[in-house]
Amino acid sequence: MRPAIGALMVLAPLGLQTSPIEVPPPVDAFPAYLWRLDHRDEPLPQQLLNATGGSHVERAGTAAWLVERGAPFYVGHGPGRNTLHPERDSLEVRFPLARFGATRDEGELVRTPCLSDPQTRADLRAALAASLAPDDRVAADFVSLGDEVSITPYGDPIDFCHSAHCDAAFQRWIAGGGGERYGLSPGARRCSTDALLSSPTPRKLGAWLGGRAFQRAVLSDLLLELAEHSRALRPGLAVGVLGLVGETAFGGVDLEAVAAALEVLEPYRVADAVERCASLRALGRGPATILETIFLDQQDPDSLRAHLRGLVGAPVDGVVVWCDRDLTSAPELRVVLEQELTSLRRARAAQPERDRDPRGVALLHSDDSLAHAFLREARGDRLGWTRRLAGLQEREGHHEVRRREALEQLRQAGEHPGSIPLDAVDGALVARFGRLVAVDLTVVSDAELDRLRAFVAAGGELEVRGPFAELRPDGTRRARSETAGGLVASSVDRSNP
Ligand SMILES: [Zn+2]
Repeated sequence: MRPAIGALMVLAPLGLQTSPIEVPPPVDAFPAYLWRLDHRDEPLPQQLLNATGGSHVERAGTAAWLVERGAPFYVGHGPGRNTLHPERDSLEVRFPLARFGATRDEGELVRTPCLSDPQTRADLRAALAASLAPDDRVAADFVSLGDEVSITPYGDPIDFCHSAHCDAAFQRWIAGGGGERYGLSPGARRCSTDALLSSPTPRKLGAWLGGRAFQRAVLSDLLLELAEHSRALRPGLAVGVLGLVGETAFGGVDLEAVAAALEVLEPYRVADAVERCASLRALGRGPATILETIFLDQQDPDSLRAHLRGLVGAPVDGVVVWCDRDLTSAPELRVVLEQELTSLRRARAAQPERDRDPRGVALLHSDDSLAHAFLREARGDRLGWTRRLAGLQEREGHHEVRRREALEQLRQAGEHPGSIPLDAVDGALVARFGRLVAVDLTVVSDAELDRLRAFVAAGGELEVRGPFAELRPDGTRRARSETAGGLVASSVDRSNP
């Protein structure tokens, strides 16, 4: 364990009545890790390292220089980068998409490498073992399993993956009970987006939604398997995932699954990802540590200063700073970063136990409703659903915009809003979140409706905005009268008066 800098400094002036000495606050109070782009194969110059205090090592690279300087660091991309982080312009993505565009045969939509292929998983475990082998790893804060990990690049719309391995894994997922929610029994097949859009039926909708959930499970199961491998190799070393791009109908990470099992998560400021991580933590189902990435190329000194000051009361425990190149080309950012991180650490060290996680009011999060919203928009999109890339959807998607507006509106009303999944709702939730906001929550199971009724019965307020619980996850439609009993009748729709 590295020494806390502040602790060393306070011993010196003990008992002396001199002018107050400025004691540097402990770096641990709010670690900051500088990403090395220009210095990826060499130690950072001390001046750059001073700006954040910490950095990272990739794969089997040495951390000796960081250990010598007592600097916090993490091990990045433990299992390697590219398998878990596909790029839009890679051949592995472009080729199957081009073939699919020509044939519209979903069998062409095979992800390379396939995450259900036992060989892929063995390769990832071996790469992780190599990353964790150097002795200096004992001093690392955590190992990251990846950055921007997703089945499809950034969650773009591709019906990955239809390999034989994934088809077999889908049957195992159904046998394990995963398909029950979607009305899927053994032998059922996934429904492609094309097939559903061309002639929708309730059964197809259930099979399509189930396919989304299955693909999320493939990735989260893999991440949990790698976390277990890491713990066997390096007991006591925390495990995390960085650069969470947020769920889409086609990719991203199942946040609930990884939040409950990993110690460190770093959600991007997209959708409700930060609010959800922090809300899950408040409910005892989240990561111990929440990080945030600061992209310096999007900052000037004033915006950087304001951003870092805004983190004082935020549910963020540290930052990854991208990157050394920007600090070299803009020394004024380096000065702001160093000053503001010092202030932030001082503030945190003075109030280490304060609860910064959301309370009071929370949005209800539903991956099924998010996927269903994509479908409704894709139906009216003449350019075709494969053109609705993740960034466009996040910016302009109806569900995404409404959710963002709701969060912003709550913040402006002075709330510290959270976001929680439906399976976290029950009567006991009222103690933390007395009010829940359902924004276009179209897909809700019968069991989840019962949870909401228990919440309302315990005194909670449910505010419904837009369509609510029209569908079950198996694709069947629910009559409005079925949701009314003691639930919607007591709610307020402030957006559609
Ligand atoms: Zn596959």
